[in-house]
Amino acid sequence: MSYHPIPPTPLVAGLPATVPFVAPEALQRQSGRTFRLRLGANESNFGPSPHAIEAMREAAGRVNWYCDPESYELRAAVAALHGVATDEIIFGSGIDDLLGLVVRAYLSPGEVAVTSLGAYPTFNYHVAGYGGRLERVPYRDDRNDLEAMAAAAHQHHARIVYLANPDNPTGSWYPAEAISAFQDALPEGCLLMLDEAYIEFAPADEVLPLDISDPRIIRLRTFSKAYGMAGARIGYALGPAEMMSAFDRITLHFGINRVAQEGALAALADTAYLDHVVTEVARGCEDYTALGRELGLMPLPSHTNFVTFDTGSPARAKALVAELAQRDVFIRMPGAPPLDRCIRVTVGTAEERATFADILRAMLPTVADTGNR
Ligand SMILES: *Cc1c(COP(=O)(O)O)cnc(C)c1O
Repeated sequence: MSYHPIPPTPLVAGLPATVPFVAPEALQRQSGRTFRLRLGANESNFGPSPHAIEAMREAAGRVNWYCDPESYELRAAVAALHGVATDEIIFGSGIDDLLGLVVRAYLSPGEVAVTSLGAYPTFNYHVAGYGGRLERVPYRDDRNDLEAMAAAAHQHHARIVYLANPDNPTGSWYPAEAISAFQDALPEGCLLMLDEAYIEFAPADEVLPLDISDPRIIRLRTFSKAYGMAGARIGYALGPAEMMSAFDRITLHFGINRVAQEGALAALADTAYLDHVVTEVARGCEDYTALGRELGLMPLPSHTNFVTFDTGSPARAKALVAELAQRDVFIRMPGAPPLDRCIRVTVGTAEERATFADILRAMLPTVADTGNR
């Protein structure tokens, strides 16, 4: 007796099998080696605040309890930080989760979302997963082309436009005036999804002021980058209460864990540690910028915790990623032109940066050859 496989829905059957990211752990399993420098995922190598670690250690002993599904204390702390009401916030297991909630709540199957070609891929993953259509606008001058994105939104009657600011993988940044002009240029009824994963690294006085009553925009924040808690999986969205209540209907009620909640609360309170990380990262960006100039790998300006270097050609970028992996250094490169001539390197600690510089200096001459062949 044989049974036929039960097919998934046509939507799921039609999805690409690829995952947005190949994890460094998977690469290690393939190679049988361990990375000595983990500089590929923009994690914070400075780690979380010691107070957050302590809080998470304590919370681990209470992990038999479900989380508080309202995140009451954390919600109050985030509300106070941003000067918003508690019902103008929703939590998720990172921005990656929240991107899915927004797409599910605001994009019907067949409707169009606009993003940049080669931008942060998890958004695309959700749009495909919920049956939406993607319009991708090429980067221009190594930054999001806001004019062309707005034009695409009009042309395709887009419901959502996704913009990471500061951007990954370019590191580029638009100040408040540019973002609000972009908002005004979008069609009526189109939601601007502003992914601010790296906002702590941007100049504070140039950040678009939070106008929580504006129903045209939702802002996404995370504890994964500057707060150094990527593995805890916690982030939040800021927007009008009416919009947040739409997410309340579809969010996983116990989808955030208790350990992350308590860690995030402690991390928020430790502003001195956050300032320390931001200062160190700025220093690291300067080091990388100097290194890139020295080696002829032109660094793009960065307002994030990574620097993207122009290596000259996709072949050379690929060779650099591969050769660095051979030397147990994990970095990544953008996958789409014109940025596929670049490599992207996370800012590590001062010691890690020095090691990286030594390795890169020693190997670059050999890779120049490989790339040109
Ligand atoms: C790292 C990153 C994220 C992921 O955030 P999580 O909160 O860890 O899910 C989202 N957006 C961008 C642009 C990122 O670089």
